[in-house]
Amino acid sequence: MNRVRKVVAVFACFALGISLFSGCKKAEEQPLPSPEISAAPNFSVHRSTLDQYGLTGEIKEDGEFACAVYYPRLENQAMDAVIEEKVNSRIASFKEDASNLASQESQRPHAWLFMDFRSVQAGTNGNIASIRLFGWSRKAGEEAPQYFSECLSFDIASGRQLVDGDLFADGYQQPLADLCSAALAEAYPGQEISFESCPLDGIASRALPTASGIELYFSSSEVAAADLGILSVSLSYESLNAILSKEMQYRLSENYGQPQPRPEDNRQPFESGGRMLDPSKPMIALSFDDGPDSEVTPKILDLLRQYDARATFCVVGNRVGSRKDVVKRAVDEGNEIANHTWEHKDTNKLNIEEIKDQITRTNDIVREASGFEIRYIRPTYGNVKDNLKQVSRELNMPMVNWTIDSEDWKSKNPDLIYQMIMSEAKDGRVILCHDIYDTTYQAMARVIPDLIAQGYQIVTIDELFSFADSQPVGGQVWRKR
Ligand code: ZN
Repeated sequence: MNRVRKVVAVFACFALGISLFSGCKKAEEQPLPSPEISAAPNFSVHRSTLDQYGLTGEIKEDGEFACAVYYPRLENQAMDAVIEEKVNSRIASFKEDASNLASQESQRPHAWLFMDFRSVQAGTNGNIASIRLFGWSRKAGEEAPQYFSECLSFDIASGRQLVDGDLFADGYQQPLADLCSAALAEAYPGQEISFESCPLDGIASRALPTASGIELYFSSSEVAAADLGILSVSLSYESLNAILSKEMQYRLSENYGQPQPRPEDNRQPFESGGRMLDPSKPMIALSFDDGPDSEVTPKILDLLRQYDARATFCVVGNRVGSRKDVVKRAVDEGNEIANHTWEHKDTNKLNIEEIKDQITRTNDIVREASGFEIRYIRPTYGNVKDNLKQVSRELNMPMVNWTIDSEDWKSKNPDLIYQMIMSEAKDGRVILCHDIYDTTYQAMARVIPDLIAQGYQIVTIDELFSFADSQPVGGQVWRKR
């Protein structure tokens, strides 16, 4: 356990509104400061540190409520939108919480909110932006402030927010709780530390990846008996190695951003879908959900034909009837069709018979339109529960989700879609798009030639699997990172 580099600090150190974040290591040697706030806190300016990533935004208010809020501006549309949403909702809930004081309190202001932040880069070449928003709020008449802390991390290239699975491997909860309790117990001799009532799901909001390790933040009410404010633990990457996700290990590794060597494959190039595929070269699968669409699907088919690429169209059955020609053309040109249910129903809410009906009707109309026998189910909303699994098993149709979400439905912005895909592209990945937005088509006009220029063969899901080490089977869902 002595390999665990332990730094524990109490962030009850906002006395007079001054954030001492950058002094957190000092706090280790000091006696625990007790929360203390003057009646009219001096909202100190944000203390920008040398390693701060991005610029500083601020929101100040001085009236019924006093706010001094500092937050990072990373000058990236996707990341800034997430950060601003967090900041604004924190301010809104603070005001709502304090609004009933307005009638009772003559003192103005009658509530205070102070928020500061830390913003650093982590990972090889700084591929991760790590943000921590923290501070306190206090209402007139309250003795002690309420402290808060929330972490966010992003892949800088795409602006995508990192979630639990991006940081830690499956089953991380118990080993991580053990590491954190050991470090906290050492820092607080005599305190009872327990992670029993502290769920470690949603760890991404407590975790701040830095250059040397991951800092984790817990409210003392979750893990300790005494009220000690916010507790932090800093664990080195070395000590976390066994529970870091593959993704995170890659982000920390020297070969981050380098083309991945492909496992040796001595098979010869072969003919598939009307063109030759070389098993020794990288492959990536494009999948398009929710179509067919009379306008967008044919435009995407034009691109695929132009670049001699193939894709998988995960069709909604009831959209096929009036667009049989589009489906037939997709099949004739070597593309694959997958099953995205008859009515885009959420299968979590259907019984087995209803799911079977959704799937078989779609299989039937695609067969009638194009002669194609559908092999794979693309679960709606990515949802996979037991009923769908059972149908998948009975019909021997494996379920296939994705490994790169282009978020085209959300951004409808060709530049963001392009960035999202290109920054995550890797051999063997499956990309989720929707062939119902013209913005997706516009992104594809750059994505397809650029992936090819990077050496990828753009293939169908079935072609991709013909090289996978393990073949998907009915009843199982494929989603590989
Ligand atoms: Zn869908």
